[in-house]
Amino acid sequence: MTDVLTENATINAAASQSGPTLTDFVTRAANGQAADGRRDLVGLSRDQLTELLGEMGESKFRVKQMWNWIYNRGVKDIEDMTNISKKLRDRLSQDFYIGRPVLTADQKSSDDTHKWLMKFHDGNEAETVYIPDRNEDRGAVCISSQVGCTLTCKFCHTGTQLLVRNLTPGEIISQFMVARDSYGEWPTPANGIRRLSNIVMMGMGEPLFNYENVREALKIAMDGEGISISRRRVTLSTSGVVPEIVRCGKELGVGLAISLHAPDDDLRNEIMPINKKYPLKELMDACRHYPGMSNSRPITMEYVMLKGVNDKPEHARALAKLVKGVHCKFNLIPFNKWPGSDYECTPTNDIKKFAHTLLELGYEAPIRWPRGRDILAACGQLKSESQRQRKSRVGGCGNASGDESTNVVAAQ
Ligand code: SAH
Ligand code: SF4
Repeated sequence: MTDVLTENATINAAASQSGPTLTDFVTRAANGQAADGRRDLVGLSRDQLTELLGEMGESKFRVKQMWNWIYNRGVKDIEDMTNISKKLRDRLSQDFYIGRPVLTADQKSSDDTHKWLMKFHDGNEAETVYIPDRNEDRGAVCISSQVGCTLTCKFCHTGTQLLVRNLTPGEIISQFMVARDSYGEWPTPANGIRRLSNIVMMGMGEPLFNYENVREALKIAMDGEGISISRRRVTLSTSGVVPEIVRCGKELGVGLAISLHAPDDDLRNEIMPINKKYPLKELMDACRHYPGMSNSRPITMEYVMLKGVNDKPEHARALAKLVKGVHCKFNLIPFNKWPGSDYECTPTNDIKKFAHTLLELGYEAPIRWPRGRDILAACGQLKSESQRQRKSRVGGCGNASGDESTNVVAAQ
């Protein structure tokens, strides 16, 4: 952690000479630094925290204590770490703080879907959605990984935004921590009911284009002495960044969802440009070899239903052929229209027929019915809301955040 400490010292020295510039603030914000130059403890890995405390001459036991305060008990103030000496708390408070993003919107749907708009230090915003299970006391928190997206999938509203920036590990994990604050789910429930039981990386952005930050955030989420969400309850959705799928399988082993959306390269190239770089054969090979893929933990193939584009019975038959040898199930997502989009959603009856055809071919294909429509939290709606309200390109997500995801929650 020397780098953090010396970086702070350098910034502070420079600032005292000439005063920080706007660029300084933006750079600091992106690094989890407050305007006064202090650094957020949320998002530091165990190793980083160990190094930091080692530099201060503290034992590994302190790391355990602090980890417990931050990620198990959810304290928001260093002062509240009462089993740590006042002297150390004062020293820590000089350079660090325990942060949360600022909530700029907090809305609950009539179906209990809950959406938060979170603002980070540099003013960028991202949306996080909680989707409770309809039948049980549990649910998934849908988390954003980027502000905007570099990809330009044609049916996705986020794809019309330029990438503003990657979110830091702290900004990613703090979305879940804000959700826990909101439901009072601290300390981490040891057993029994957990309303915020699952994490789905299905918010704004392509998580595998911000892989390292997502990995660090998920490692924090899965640490058994902190937030303690088991690997089986984490699902990451990707448009198909093949090399990082391999890494993600090896290093994290979380559940995988693939935004498939087309059964052949011609159609997929047209609607998802990433397919030109990583075509279906490579993608299916990566899926076939994804560690932990099994009948009990199949890969989810997400499939947005676009009227007259990818919704014919022959598409369903081609899909079944394509995924041969991959333990998977489908998840059919009714297309959510957004202003300016050229596509229409397949009529409900045809979606049901499509699901039936897949089932006959041996593949489960539940339909992800939109959730939180009244608060614009459903697929493709989030960004439009943010844009309308804030007239900016940031915030929101053009995808599945608020939609019924029983397949990723209930099945785990
Ligand atoms: N970037 C990642 C994470 C997004 S997850 C990915 O592409 O997988 C959200 C899911 O919603 C993805 O499968 C995405 O393709 C889909 N989606 C995007 N826009 C949508 C829309 N307007 N209607 C329905 N589904 C949409
Ligand atoms: Fe980005 Fe995913 Fe939307 Fe494609 S579907 S533009 S990868 S967020």
